[in-house]
Amino acid sequence: MARATHIENELRALGRRSPQRHPVSDLPTREPLLLLMAEDGSGTLGIIALEDFDRLCALDPEKADDMLKTLALRLLRMTGGRRMVAQVDRARLAIWLGPDVAVCDAHGQLEAISYALHAPLDEEMSFAGQLTVHHATFDHAVETPQNALARLLAVVNSRPGRGGMVHRVNDAAVSNDREQFALEQDLRHALTRGELELCYQPQIDARKGRVAGAEALLRWRSPVHGMVSPMRFIPLLEQLGLIEEVGLWVLNAACRMARQWQALELGSLSVAVNVAPQQLEDATFHARVRRTLEAQGLAPQALEIELTESQAVADPNRAERQFTPLRALGVKIAIDDFGTGFSSFSALRKLDFDKIKIDREFVTDVEQRRDSQAICQSMIALARGLGIRVIAEGVERAEEYRWLLHHGCHEFQGFYFSRPLAGPDFADFLRNSAGLTAKLAVDPRQSQQKILQRFGS
Ligand code: C2E
Ligand code: MG
Ligand code: MG
Repeated sequence: MARATHIENELRALGRRSPQRHPVSDLPTREPLLLLMAEDGSGTLGIIALEDFDRLCALDPEKADDMLKTLALRLLRMTGGRRMVAQVDRARLAIWLGPDVAVCDAHGQLEAISYALHAPLDEEMSFAGQLTVHHATFDHAVETPQNALARLLAVVNSRPGRGGMVHRVNDAAVSNDREQFALEQDLRHALTRGELELCYQPQIDARKGRVAGAEALLRWRSPVHGMVSPMRFIPLLEQLGLIEEVGLWVLNAACRMARQWQALELGSLSVAVNVAPQQLEDATFHARVRRTLEAQGLAPQALEIELTESQAVADPNRAERQFTPLRALGVKIAIDDFGTGFSSFSALRKLDFDKIKIDREFVTDVEQRRDSQAICQSMIALARGLGIRVIAEGVERAEEYRWLLHHGCHEFQGFYFSRPLAGPDFADFLRNSAGLTAKLAVDPRQSQQKILQRFGS
């Protein structure tokens, strides 16, 4: 009894940094460990598993508790309180070797700890053959601390112990490969399983005071992976050779939707569709576009093809060959993410296009940033000089909208006006002209007053 009290006191003294504690070992629980892992960002996580603990609990619960406490104390003494030791499960203690321990040294350190833990303590208490150590590297860039802990515990629990061994568990990169493989397999079927959908982000013409059109943006709603970002799955579609098939589906669905909007008789509206390089490389692409327009009954002028600046300038001669038959149809061409692709003026001169989309990078905080202001002003002047339209994308705040409007940009797309919307919500947005008018007519004097109020003048 005296011994137990002594252990408890020492445990408390060594591990007093965290308020969330396990009732038996008095060690910090999962939450403080996960917080520290998130804070450190990378390191090695070791799990020390006390094998046969359940049997011991059934036979002699007091001894089982004592063993756990002793194990906790020995670990804390060994690490001198410099490493976090936590109790993450009934008979599972974790030790966190933060970013200051190189991955190649971590295995050796854990082997030393395991060896020392196995040394007999007294006649009654020995861990001989009862402890197994598993460890894995953690990197916040590839997984969450919760994920790393769950991954490691799953391995520990699935490989009941050969005591005394220290096992290195595969890195997250390996399990991420597995995850990636599963994602790819599911993506192959996403189209046929009806998991792909389009949403539409309004594009506003401030001079006309109305919605001029929408950009169709692809979404994958997977029952297994949840909502997957197009930034993640579009490159995969390209790698898997599926982008042409999916791209054609997008084109059809977007043209069908645009035809439905026209039936609402709310003025002429265009739909913009993003096109991947592989789609344009297909010599029959323009013929596919023509057939789609005919099938959906949409006028070519109502369709805009978006391709990125880097796509267009990579080979301007080829791009021009691809643009010509599309423009001959009457379809519009917009250069997406303008300003990010290092276009030379001579490359631009070769190309015949209708619109540039100023990338969000230059729009964000434009009213405060001199560099962005200079770039936006020259893009607006360039568009004016070439006699083409210019739209700012990623407009999130009234101040950005107002600055751009004041400097000659009249078309806008961004969260300030609306997030991308599902088809029926977009139709509602079209009908709600009052909401749009209020956003367009934002009064600069009002926000100046707000700033003065905030700073108490
Ligand atoms: P993008 O063509 O430049 O599309 C604009 C992206 O910016 C969209 O992201 C949109 O949701 C986001 N965005 C719009 N306004 C704001 C804003 O105010 N703030 C912020 N933070 N973001 C805003 P999303 O939908 O995730 O699409 C990402 C990219 O995926 C697109 O960039 C496009 O390159 C590609 N993509 C989307 N749909 C398709 C498709 O059908 N085919 C192809 N080939 N690519 C597509
Ligand atoms: Mg786009
Ligand atoms: Mg863009």
